[in-house]
Amino acid sequence: MYKDFQQHLQSEISEIKNAGLYKNERIIVSAQGACIKLNTGEEVLNFCANNYLGLANNKQLMKAAKEALDTHGYGMASVRFICGTSDLHKKLEAKIAEFFGTEDTILYAACFDANGGVFEPLLTEQDAIISDALNHASIIDGVRLCKAQRYRYANADMEDLEKQLIAAQANKFRLIVTDGVFSMDGNVAPLDKIIALADKYNAMVMVDESHSAGVVGKTGRGITELFDKRGKVEIITGTLGKAFGGAVGGFTTGKKEIIEMLRQRSRPYLFSNSIPPMVAAAGIKMVEMMSATNELQDKLHANTEYFMEKMTKLGFDIKPTKSAICAVMLYDAKLSQDFAAKLQDEGIYVTGFYYPVVPKGAARIRVQLSAAHEKQHLDKAIAAFEKIGKELGVIK
Ligand SMILES: *Cc1c(COP(=O)(O)O)cnc(C)c1O
Repeated sequence: MYKDFQQHLQSEISEIKNAGLYKNERIIVSAQGACIKLNTGEEVLNFCANNYLGLANNKQLMKAAKEALDTHGYGMASVRFICGTSDLHKKLEAKIAEFFGTEDTILYAACFDANGGVFEPLLTEQDAIISDALNHASIIDGVRLCKAQRYRYANADMEDLEKQLIAAQANKFRLIVTDGVFSMDGNVAPLDKIIALADKYNAMVMVDESHSAGVVGKTGRGITELFDKRGKVEIITGTLGKAFGGAVGGFTTGKKEIIEMLRQRSRPYLFSNSIPPMVAAAGIKMVEMMSATNELQDKLHANTEYFMEKMTKLGFDIKPTKSAICAVMLYDAKLSQDFAAKLQDEGIYVTGFYYPVVPKGAARIRVQLSAAHEKQHLDKAIAAFEKIGKELGVIK
């Protein structure tokens, strides 16, 4: 049997390669950070990690993790409800709720699991999920696992959302779900308008703050802070794998009855291991740091503004954003790949995206800013963009 299947896979894989969509992985031999070392010996400046606050190799988080390794051991070897709950898990859940101004939190092994396990336990075929068309894959998968009726609205399009809400009026309960920041354009969901429509059409709201927690809002509390709506949405999901230290783990935080029900019925929670105590300990430390000082957010915001301003001045076409994702629009697919390759030769590690990851004719380079970047890193990247931009005729 395997021989036929092997041939089938080999031909599918060559199709992926021929379409230019084959994903290669670069191997990093240093810690994650502003400057990384690859196994080829190259050292590059990293502008494509989700390490927004530069915490991936933060000394205080590493110390907290090491101490927990000594006091709590390496792993839990259990799901939470059997014997996998440590005091550190409970403390981190409370800290996350405090951070977002919510009532309670439930941890998962990843935000992919948080989104995969949030809809099915809460909603039935009588209910409706109204989802932004550009929501993350894990939301799409979570919605698929749930029997609720599905409605989709065009990205951040409030007229379309209203239409879908009207269409869903016959359903019993309605839940609008949106990413806080969309990863390809870096645009922020218009939460004020979404909440106004939710009030008008009697719906609940869920926001996935994976790209916005730690980043958006003056103190990094996410888009609920940006729009002054802290505690006003029913459900927030997020990850510990991006701004919050970059290790692993996800969470759902929000209304206490919702979290209580998820603890009883959410399958990725009930049937999957709990996060290692050292990750929980580092997470607790992270929230404490965020509450003690706003230094990292301030630096990230200043870095983002500086980069956007200089790049715009050079004549690059940049999507407006309040996040730390900066989309440098090139439109042409091949140009985006050539540009990214040349930047890497200059020691700048970014990713070029083109169809089908972004719409046809909307190819771009995505730059992700970080509090780990120093001014000289930003200047080096901007100079490289200027050089290659002129060489390839993108700017004058
Ligand atoms: C990254 C991301 C996730 C997945 O987070 P993990 O914890 O890595 O599984 C989910 N939703 C959004 C919007 C994301 O950007």
